[in-house]
Amino acid sequence: MQATPLSVLDVIQVGVGPSASHTVGPMRAAADFVNHLAQSGAAFDRLQVELQGSLGATGRGHLSDGAVLAGLSGFLPDTVEPGSLPRLLSSVKPAGSIVLPGGSSVGFQYDWDMVFTPETVAPFHNNSLVIRASQGDQVTFALRYYSTGGGFVTRDDAIEGEPGNLTQLDKTPTTVDVPYPYTSMGDLLRAAETNNKTIGEIVRANEKTRMSMGEFGKRLDTLQKQMGACIDRGCATTEDVLPGGLAVPRRARKLFLRLTERDGKPGTPAIWRSFAQDPMRAMDWVNLWALSVNEENAAGGMVVRAPTNGSAGIVAAVGRYLQWFCPEVETKCGPAQRDYLTVAGAVGGIIKTNASVAGAEVGCQGEVGSAAAMAAGGLAAALGGSPHQIENAAEIAMEHHLGLTCDPIGGLVQVPCIERNAIAAVKAINAARMSLWGDGTHRVSFDEVIETMYETGLDMSSKYKETATGGLAVNVVEC
Ligand code: SF4
Repeated sequence: MQATPLSVLDVIQVGVGPSASHTVGPMRAAADFVNHLAQSGAAFDRLQVELQGSLGATGRGHLSDGAVLAGLSGFLPDTVEPGSLPRLLSSVKPAGSIVLPGGSSVGFQYDWDMVFTPETVAPFHNNSLVIRASQGDQVTFALRYYSTGGGFVTRDDAIEGEPGNLTQLDKTPTTVDVPYPYTSMGDLLRAAETNNKTIGEIVRANEKTRMSMGEFGKRLDTLQKQMGACIDRGCATTEDVLPGGLAVPRRARKLFLRLTERDGKPGTPAIWRSFAQDPMRAMDWVNLWALSVNEENAAGGMVVRAPTNGSAGIVAAVGRYLQWFCPEVETKCGPAQRDYLTVAGAVGGIIKTNASVAGAEVGCQGEVGSAAAMAAGGLAAALGGSPHQIENAAEIAMEHHLGLTCDPIGGLVQVPCIERNAIAAVKAINAARMSLWGDGTHRVSFDEVIETMYETGLDMSSKYKETATGGLAVNVVEC
């Protein structure tokens, strides 16, 4: 296990929807494959993609096929045009070829060369894909990839059976020397206590080995702006229905208009007068912001995954709650928001390192539960919580998502995902508030909850791990 913690900027990243593990990861894998194929010098006139395990089961609904085609054409999740994957699919199918990054074309018959094998479960991870290049009948180059959640990808040079040489594609160098190495929340708390620092200060000192603090702060500000822009896009859209065939209505715009009519705009005195009539009105806005982000995600828009796309609404909505509804701290982009994202990212990194953030591996507790823990820990930090209160906030939020399954209807990141983000955002705020009324002393540690979440996830039937074969996915008629 690495002692160099994941960078906050690896845990919270911008990328296209609808899924970190099923869209972002496969796109990154495919882009990596074409680079290696070019370097190999192998002859080829055809490519073939095999989406295995959970990618095979729900890959169509998550646009994994379009994501791989985009990656093979050289697009990346943070730069590809939002909403372009369905268009790419419909152009590749009749063309029978893919345009590679240099502009040349290679044969790709979608019906033959995009293969879905949900029954193939790789030993290392059940989100695997194999990409093969061939010349005539001969496979000339092939690699296997695992999309391990949150957009993280591992390359494997063994294309079947037990893993061979594994290489993580992610950005954080695991060899970098940081002043405060940690793998668990317990380590992080000890580092804070021993050195009389806040958790944010410990995390920033580590990040400083990767970039200047000015650069780090700027990147956090950009992420915060991108989250806000995503919320605003979702509230302004003119689309009424989400794509994918379930005819799920988009609610954010109508809700935004109704809330604005009732309360006025956030950031104005009118809204505080409105809240005086009913303090729970703030919750309506938090719901709105989470719904808005996840509707954007479901529509293939650009979101900030934290730690995944399917759970992207939670950190974004709680961040805006901090920005607009916590007047005791700075309300604009600045130290409070930076502290929020810094600590949220550290919490997510600990979960990713010790357990999983992939619904396909541990169910929705690993996605939405992790995002709620990140948001709760980040909010407690931004509101001045002690290290133990921050740990408590993250622990409460995760503890009360234990056992949450992943069973999206139709394999689409829509039902129950969108509403689930709204519910979890409110839970995260509650967890932070509950922890801040205590002194940080509590019975169950965050590390124990993470261990429990992971074991629960491993024991969970595969029906409830992003395969669309159990739960709501089978009990709700799709049309
Ligand atoms: S149910 Fe949860 S884990 Fe599954 S796709 Fe939806 S948000 Fe992701």
